[in-house]
Amino acid sequence: MIPFGYARASDVSDAVRQIAAEPGAKFIAGGTNLLDLMKDDVERPARLIDISRLPLTAVEETDNGGLRIGALVPNSDLAWHPLIEERYPLVGSAILAGASAQLRNMASTGGNLLQRTRCAYFYDTATPCNKRQPGSGCSAINGVNRGHAILGASEACIATHPSDMCVALIALDATVHVVGPNGPRAIAVAEFHRLPGDKPHIDTTLQPNEIVTWIELPAKGFAANYSYLKVRDRLSYAFALVSVAAALELKDGKISDTRLALGGVAHKPWRDASAEAALQGQAADEKTFAKAADVLLQHARPQTHNAFKVELARRAIVRTLTQAARGTPQSQSNKHIR
Ligand SMILES: Cc1cc2nc3c(=O)[nH]c(=O)nc-3n(C[C@H](O)[C@H](O)[C@H](O)COP(=O)(O)OP(=O)(O)OC[C@H]3O[C@@H](n4cnc5c(N)ncnc54)[C@H](O)[C@@H]3O)c2cc1C
Ligand code: SF4
Repeated sequence: MIPFGYARASDVSDAVRQIAAEPGAKFIAGGTNLLDLMKDDVERPARLIDISRLPLTAVEETDNGGLRIGALVPNSDLAWHPLIEERYPLVGSAILAGASAQLRNMASTGGNLLQRTRCAYFYDTATPCNKRQPGSGCSAINGVNRGHAILGASEACIATHPSDMCVALIALDATVHVVGPNGPRAIAVAEFHRLPGDKPHIDTTLQPNEIVTWIELPAKGFAANYSYLKVRDRLSYAFALVSVAAALELKDGKISDTRLALGGVAHKPWRDASAEAALQGQAADEKTFAKAADVLLQHARPQTHNAFKVELARRAIVRTLTQAARGTPQSQSNKHIR
């Protein structure tokens, strides 16, 4: 047993004050990732600051027609929220493709954003890992790397980001609102997660003394033409090999607006403006979708064991865009798995 302190934060300011006072401290929300990391001796926080009872549990409409989601809204509550089901079903579908019902009941929106990679070497303290111990090396590069990145990797780390929800959030241009010792600031989800570069131990642009307070979705939810497709080894309780979030706006059979994001392929949820540009103004057909997939995957660099992911991603992109165009999403109604 490795001793650690525990304190409960009374409000957001108190949480920030406590984390700023002790650099080795960590926030704990649902604990579904952090406690596993502590049990495996990957993380050793000197103190846990419990934020689970802070009043960050509201889902409410914003003045500009968007949605504001508290960082402590449980993943289940968010997926089933009437405003999500009606206006942002892409987000609900992505959340429900992740983990299990029990985990989704505990997991928080903020914790989901900050969950760490599922690279097996990261969890195995007997092996070198630059993310766990900077400078020690990357065991995956010459090891078993079937589940690893095909885009945006570095010589220091080839891990993938594990969240499903974040793939939908980046597709919909969500913003993360945070508070630190210098007050509040907003970070676009696209800028929130990092590529590994030579600092793979830093996952996000959140500072260690900042707390995520809420996430904002803009007004446009693409509720008519969307789909989230997750390809994985088992149908439930498994992380994505490849996942695709697709959203289209159609006018007279042509694509007037589009969003395309991938999970399971990079150190961050992957969105590529040039692939979306290849869809813009085009007919919503298989030829257009295949071209966009080619554009998105042109810089793919597979590892020893995961060349299959490139073709898998290509097919998943075409299929997900086809589902979105037809208005027949992969998970047409969330209610059947309630
Ligand atoms: C077996 C298993 C299978 C899973 N499968 C999937 C899956 O298929 N898809 C998927 O997307 N996820 C999956 N998950 C991950 C799950 O979604 C995450 O563990 C969960 O979302 C984390 O939320 P939490 O509230 O429990 O975070 P915690 O474990 O409490 O915290 C995680 C991290 O976030 C930090 N943190 C939490 N809240 C805040 C905040 N408000 N501000 C700043 N920092 C904060 C903590 O300090 C910690 O570093 C799986 C998890 C398990 C255990
Ligand atoms: S891929 Fe990243 S997380 Fe996995 S062993 Fe290499 S450095 Fe560690």
